[in-house]
Amino acid sequence: MADLARIVAEIAGRMAHAKPRGTVADYIPELAKVSADHFGIAVIAADGTEHVAGDADTAFSIQSVSKLFALVEALSRGGDRVWDRVGREPSGSAFNSIVQLEAEGGRPRNPFINAGAIAVTDLIAQGTREGIGDILRLIRGLAGDDSIAVDGAVAYSEAATGFRNAALGNYMKAFGTIDGPVASTLDVYFHQCAIAMSCRQLARAGRFLAHGGVDPRSGRSVVSPERARRLNALMLTCGHYDASGEFAFQVGLPAKSGVGGGILAIAPGRASIAVWSPGLSPQGNSLLGTAALEELAQAMGWNVFNPDI
Ligand code: GLU
Repeated sequence: MADLARIVAEIAGRMAHAKPRGTVADYIPELAKVSADHFGIAVIAADGTEHVAGDADTAFSIQSVSKLFALVEALSRGGDRVWDRVGREPSGSAFNSIVQLEAEGGRPRNPFINAGAIAVTDLIAQGTREGIGDILRLIRGLAGDDSIAVDGAVAYSEAATGFRNAALGNYMKAFGTIDGPVASTLDVYFHQCAIAMSCRQLARAGRFLAHGGVDPRSGRSVVSPERARRLNALMLTCGHYDASGEFAFQVGLPAKSGVGGGILAIAPGRASIAVWSPGLSPQGNSLLGTAALEELAQAMGWNVFNPDI
């Protein structure tokens, strides 16, 4: 796949100097320290070939991309019990919005907005702070890399300023959506968001989603083909908060973004892709990351509506 190597290098070359670069998230003080100059991309093809460029090996805060892995962990433990407490509809609201919760009886719209992710993490936390170890083990296993860790400074920074997330947790507790003590559930949530990974590690961890739930590196079934399809469907419809429709329109691939500027995208049967650029759009999605995915998807003909993909 010689073309892919060239296309990835060309995209990284353009993105290195592209302007505007978006605005780095500053509501978590530790994230505000990261330069908007970064751009990294990693594409892992079906045969395992890795095409990387730019800052592909620099670790960044995966933030809401962790919500995908937490959902996998919660589903593997509790099965469809997850859907008793969280919906599967796009929210059309900001990632940290509280308004829908009151109108909808404390049941978050989907597992990828903050409220939904906190409700999912509560199933893993089960009243203790240990759940973060299980999420980390899952990610390390998928990436084949035990060096992946939580960035303690980011976790602390989030906990110290996470008043909205505390409000969401307490509000859901009042509705009975979450079981455990709010403090320990939030502690696990803040730590999962603060996991640091590079584009290469993230793309490796996402490969099972491109291959019907099977990790092609180990041959291990991570989730059933049906669950892989459902996870991809959620990423396509809910992976970019209130810009999910726009992302599907522009790129046409299932993907999950985070306010650290990372995006994991899946070209089914073809590739697992991770991009990182910390400058965000007003909706909290990586500006250049999205632009890079649009260019890559177009150049390769990778989109879920292409009958030949
Ligand atoms: N840790 C972030 C928060 O809870 C995650 C948000 C995101 O990445 O969208 O605000």
